[in-house]
Amino acid sequence: MNDCIFCKIINKEIPSVTIYEDDIIIGFLDISQTTKGHTLIIPKKHYENIYEIDEDTLAYIYKKVPKIACALKTAFKAKGMNVVNNNGELAGQTVFHFHVHLIPRYNEKDGFRAIYTNHMDKYSKEDLEKIAVQIRENFN
Ligand code: 5GP
Ligand code: ZN
Repeated sequence: MNDCIFCKIINKEIPSVTIYEDDIIIGFLDISQTTKGHTLIIPKKHYENIYEIDEDTLAYIYKKVPKIACALKTAFKAKGMNVVNNNGELAGQTVFHFHVHLIPRYNEKDGFRAIYTNHMDKYSKEDLEKIAVQIRENFN
């Protein structure tokens, strides 16, 4: 993927501030620094999104998340940590090389906010059962 900005970072064709690297992944500071310490973890091999990435690579990424999250928490005395992965443009993905965001949280106005709307009133228990069937039918 020669036009992929994250592949270019891996290949050191463009600079990044790396905080962690091994044979399979790198962790580097997100250029936007949504909050102080905002970090991205990416596989060295190019996968576009959660639908493409292989299970072992994904497991390896998340295996390393606690180590990096703990370092961020300790370094900056973060009071919370959002671990976020966006897939598809509608979901906010702008770089199409799989990545996990680690966003340390400091206060309610620190630059990041996840909003969960409660639609409980719109779904009955039966609706949820139907939804569950639809999902189960589509496991490969
Ligand atoms: P997404 O919106 O796809 O979940 O996240 C992509 C992230 O990549 C954004 O937070 C953006 O700031 C970051 N990003 C985009 N280009 C670069 C870059 O060249 N260097 C670094 N360090 N981060 C980048
Ligand atoms: Zn890539």
